[in-house]
Amino acid sequence: MKRASTMEVKRQNRNNVYRIIYQKGKISKQEIANKLNLSLPTVAQNLTELFEKGLIYENGSFDSTGGRKAKGISCNMDAKTAIGLDITRNHISGVLVNLLGEVLYSIRTRLHFEDNRKYYEELRSLVDRIIEEGRADPYTILGIGISMPGIIGADHKTITYAPVVETTTLFEDLKGYLPYPYAIINDAKAGGFAELWHSPHAENMVYLSLSNSVGGAVLMNNELYYGDQRLSGEIGHMTLEIDGKPCYCGKKGCMDPYCNAQVLSRRTGGDLKKFFELLDKGDKDCRQEWETYLKYLSVAINNLRNCLDCEVILGGYVGSYMDSHIDELRQMVIKRSTFTTDGKFVQSCAFKFESSAVGAGLYYIDEYIKCI
Ligand SMILES: [Zn+2]
Repeated sequence: MKRASTMEVKRQNRNNVYRIIYQKGKISKQEIANKLNLSLPTVAQNLTELFEKGLIYENGSFDSTGGRKAKGISCNMDAKTAIGLDITRNHISGVLVNLLGEVLYSIRTRLHFEDNRKYYEELRSLVDRIIEEGRADPYTILGIGISMPGIIGADHKTITYAPVVETTTLFEDLKGYLPYPYAIINDAKAGGFAELWHSPHAENMVYLSLSNSVGGAVLMNNELYYGDQRLSGEIGHMTLEIDGKPCYCGKKGCMDPYCNAQVLSRRTGGDLKKFFELLDKGDKDCRQEWETYLKYLSVAINNLRNCLDCEVILGGYVGSYMDSHIDELRQMVIKRSTFTTDGKFVQSCAFKFESSAVGAGLYYIDEYIKCI
């Protein structure tokens, strides 16, 4: 038992050394020792192990006030990569991300989801394209995170509810098609995780994914909070109107039919960009639709704040247009709020590009960094 715990301390030290280099970008051996309260020989031993794994490299030197210049040490962010896929009803997006979460390559293609061999072959060839056109070293790829709308079990295999992309057997069906380990992740939770990854200031947040359906993610203490039944963040099915509009889930008055992106884009033939262009030009119908939309959204945001008291981040298709409309929304939230607020806890997403695909890839990156 004693031996196991010594091993664990060693692993934790190595992980801490790696993380401090990762966070600092460039750091000296002495500074690592100071910050982690470790002896120089211990730091040196860990650095040797990390060098041997190709995870770090010597990166120039620091100016010193006398004596030898200290060598800089940085992480080799491309030492490991992961692929993220985002499956929606009519499209697949794919990205290649590195250890920093940078997108090295991305692709989006129109492909209607079908639970058949042809679809899975297309998926496989998309993965091949990502590897080839993204110039990924196949040995660096940790795995493929697959984002899709649905309730996904803790094993990242079991799908218990998926009315948008109709499959509960995706994991089994993909067996034999993909060249790497793969895991299934809820799309909004993946999007929220990508947002958290790229917003180092925030520890707690609710992420609202305002796409063709409304999803969400609750992130507490820098981790996804799943809930007892993996149902946390299903914000689209919070009741906003008793016996209101029908929702695709079969119930009435859920947030989804009031706040999904199609509520807006159906005014402009399915073109959300055009909706916001017309809105900005002062189109009366778009303005009226927008005000109704914001009314329901502000109710949901007020409820979320009363429940969780943290930042509420607006992502998804609508979230990516929110920057120039955030003040209007904040004013509506302030009016509704019981507790004093300047509304700043409501924010548009910082990470606007393929967040679900990126978050799905980050699942493998996060698991890897935890185990270094
Ligand atoms: Zn519903």
